[in-house]
Amino acid sequence: MKHPDAVSNLAARLKRAHVLDSVLELLDWDEQVNLPPDSGGRRAEQTALLAGLAHEAATDPQIGELLAALEVSAELLDDDGRVLLREARRDYDKATRLPTDFVTEKAALDSEAFLVWQSARAAADFQRFAPYLERQLAMARREAAYAGMQARPYDYFLDHYNPGMGEGTITALFAELRSGVVPLVQAIVASPVVPRDDLLKGFPVAAQQALLREVTAALGFDFRRGRIDVAAHPFCSGDAADTRLTTRFKPEAPLSALFSAIHESGHGMYEQGLPLEHLGTPLGTHAGMAVHESQSRLWENQVGRGRAFWRHFEPRLRALFPEGLAGVSTAELYLAINAVRPGVIRVEADEVTYNLHILLRFALEQQLFAGDLAVRDLPAAWNAASAEMLGLTPGHAGEGVLQDVHWSRGKFGYFPSYCLGNMIAAQLWETVRTAMPDLEDDFARGDFTRLLSWLRNHVHVHGRRHDTPALVRRATGHELSAAPLLRYLRERYAALYLSDGG
Ligand code: ZN
Repeated sequence: MKHPDAVSNLAARLKRAHVLDSVLELLDWDEQVNLPPDSGGRRAEQTALLAGLAHEAATDPQIGELLAALEVSAELLDDDGRVLLREARRDYDKATRLPTDFVTEKAALDSEAFLVWQSARAAADFQRFAPYLERQLAMARREAAYAGMQARPYDYFLDHYNPGMGEGTITALFAELRSGVVPLVQAIVASPVVPRDDLLKGFPVAAQQALLREVTAALGFDFRRGRIDVAAHPFCSGDAADTRLTTRFKPEAPLSALFSAIHESGHGMYEQGLPLEHLGTPLGTHAGMAVHESQSRLWENQVGRGRAFWRHFEPRLRALFPEGLAGVSTAELYLAINAVRPGVIRVEADEVTYNLHILLRFALEQQLFAGDLAVRDLPAAWNAASAEMLGLTPGHAGEGVLQDVHWSRGKFGYFPSYCLGNMIAAQLWETVRTAMPDLEDDFARGDFTRLLSWLRNHVHVHGRRHDTPALVRRATGHELSAAPLLRYLRERYAALYLSDGG
């Protein structure tokens, strides 16, 4: 077979597998948004059948044959062909190296461990969950071993979520971040400036819905091939052709739905910016979870919590919620939007203290995989790390070691993505502001197109062409570093909380 034919054959098979995956995602979206309460059994049948078909399509022996044929003379391929071959090989090996009985056992453990975790968290009973965490860790070691990474299982998972990132690099980045964030948080906590987010109340949900639709459309989320619905947990699923976002409304935190919608729109606009003609192949796939998170964080924090953004949207907010905002000054509103307050719960954390939650989890995962920490000692280690990093000890395991879903699903090595995403967002932000010093004047007019096209051209268009460090280097001209995030946090928060402004 000629090279061009083999490349297009390979792309066609990858796209077929991706269509099946996309149907699975749509079923999952529907389950979280629409599914009637007694229809779960039928959905489980539908999902199980589709999952089997999707796995068959992804491990199709013909993909293996096409890869092997192309690898014989890979030097004849053009740049796109080489990326396709390299990344398709990575995915194919991952999917085919795991024995079927391992995959079945893992799927069963994931759903069982998830249910046990839910009840253990509700009862604040770590002992109930501990045996399942032990089993997930053992499964993780087995999975790494199948990939030939038995000596460095944690690195296997770190690289799985963020290609090119390893334990050594992340340890150094996080140490740099910690040395800057800890004193900043201490200074903010000691500041006499206290945010009054409790002043914001009485925001009717219908008006909130109208606002978040208006804001996300202005930012650039394309509602012709995407939508936003309500679910128990905010998420983004789907792809460039059909992007599904969810948000939730919290009466006690009226801006929470807006910010989670902006966050998910950032994920969604990344998906929508991936090259549609390559949908379903690595050239049309995102570059990893940290890069994905950088897009959501940049829109949520650098843009959505900035003064220029609110110069445009504050009048809209006041027009929609005249009663809720009566008596709240512009300065009070802006401070409430940028409230910093250490807490024990990660998903409720502000953008400054959030990083400490991730450093804590990364350190504990490292110790678990290194064999320096036993599962039974994890709650005590968690509480000690929480006291050290956040100055707070959780009242019980439900708001401590059991608070996150990730470990119940065996998703080790995922947490660093959030913090790396913050770093990448800040580094991109610094680069784009240097390139366009008047960019925020656009925001004050409600115009976000220049920022979105910059992200399209420097991040989205590349798909998975580059690994995480290479993509950051290309987009910003520098190695990934914690310094831009520290500069950004100091600039924004010192101005708000510290009287000397720095
Ligand atoms: Zn996110």
